[in-house]
Amino acid sequence: MTKINTAYGQLPPAFFFTRIGETVASYAAAHPDRHLLRLGVGDVTGPLTPAVIEAMHAAVEEQAHAATFHGYLNEVGTDFMKAAVADYYARRNVIHSKEDVFISSGAADDLGAIGNLFSRDATVLVTEPAYPAYVDTNRMTGRRIVSLTGNAENGFLPLPTDETDADLVFLCSPNNPTGTAYTKAQLKKWVDWANERKAVIVFDAAYEAFVQDEDVPRSIYELPGAETCAIEISSLSKTAGFTGTRLGYTVVPGKLVREGLSLRDMWTQDRTTRTNGVSYILQRAGEAALSPEGVAQSRKAIGFYQENGRILADALKKTGQLFTGGRNAPYLWLRCPDGMTGWAFFDELIKTAQIVVTPGEGFGSGGEGYVRLSCFGSRGDTEEAARRLIQIL
Ligand code: PLP
Repeated sequence: MTKINTAYGQLPPAFFFTRIGETVASYAAAHPDRHLLRLGVGDVTGPLTPAVIEAMHAAVEEQAHAATFHGYLNEVGTDFMKAAVADYYARRNVIHSKEDVFISSGAADDLGAIGNLFSRDATVLVTEPAYPAYVDTNRMTGRRIVSLTGNAENGFLPLPTDETDADLVFLCSPNNPTGTAYTKAQLKKWVDWANERKAVIVFDAAYEAFVQDEDVPRSIYELPGAETCAIEISSLSKTAGFTGTRLGYTVVPGKLVREGLSLRDMWTQDRTTRTNGVSYILQRAGEAALSPEGVAQSRKAIGFYQENGRILADALKKTGQLFTGGRNAPYLWLRCPDGMTGWAFFDELIKTAQIVVTPGEGFGSGGEGYVRLSCFGSRGDTEEAARRLIQIL
């Protein structure tokens, strides 16, 4: 009999988004005359920028001719794309050698694969509510998972204490779903904790481009000591509207060594064995997206989502209902009124105000009793939802 990975059997059924989709579809079918205000989506809506489109067209043209055609590339990224990422960091005074940079097909891919570097016996710490991949990918390997819960008392930014014990920690800042972000002083506590215990932090920086506050770091490497304890995983999905185009990057510093092994060397071995890298055309697109011109063009889209965040946050402030986010991340995290669960408030918001949100229960411990609002909706929907939220709450 084939021995399979029975840890998959321990995963929760993938009912969460199915249930949301079914509820929304059945409401829309029963009320075809009512427009739904969709603040549930975690996906960008704007098109790719002109700089990216131009670079992609040029790369397609190169692939069309024998003299400029590219076959297999370096599995962990072309020199030009690694240089573009290193330069993107350097413009923010974060210095990486190109060897520390790995090009990927997006943050989700590397979040799923990074566990390859760690033992099955490693204890994983997740700060929740969290993007579900941290827990689910580690459940698939059968690792022990412990969680630190974000709540109103700690501002949804849990910090380590003397009792906190783990080998591998997943941190996401700015955070999906709470929209909160660690300040430099707070994140330093995690870096010091990890260095003291020789733990490793996997820092998910997928929303770095949304940071507006001066004291909020966009990269964990803005903190001294991070290069000896942290891996950073990021992507162009939210930075440059690449959710459907797919390109990301991971930084594994050469100084990150555990049990005598360089994690950068291990990751090189892992990637060159398991993947053949990202297409030439996409890497040229990524290079353009991270160029000063590309970043300036993407700022317009990010500014649009940030303005949606301001509109929603201003409305929620008027209601007096507890919420976080809407400033350094494209999400707001709202406590449900009258002790309702996230699911109950989700149902009620659709029925009474035609607003679609995401129930907090989908994001692990600490999620119950909250909903997530996204800033990726249209301006009209966002403004109307803001008006209706003031009336309801
Ligand atoms: N990390 C977080 C916190 C996210 O919210 C998402 C996507 O929504 C991802 C990673 C995945 O990003 P990518 O599109 O780069 O795979």
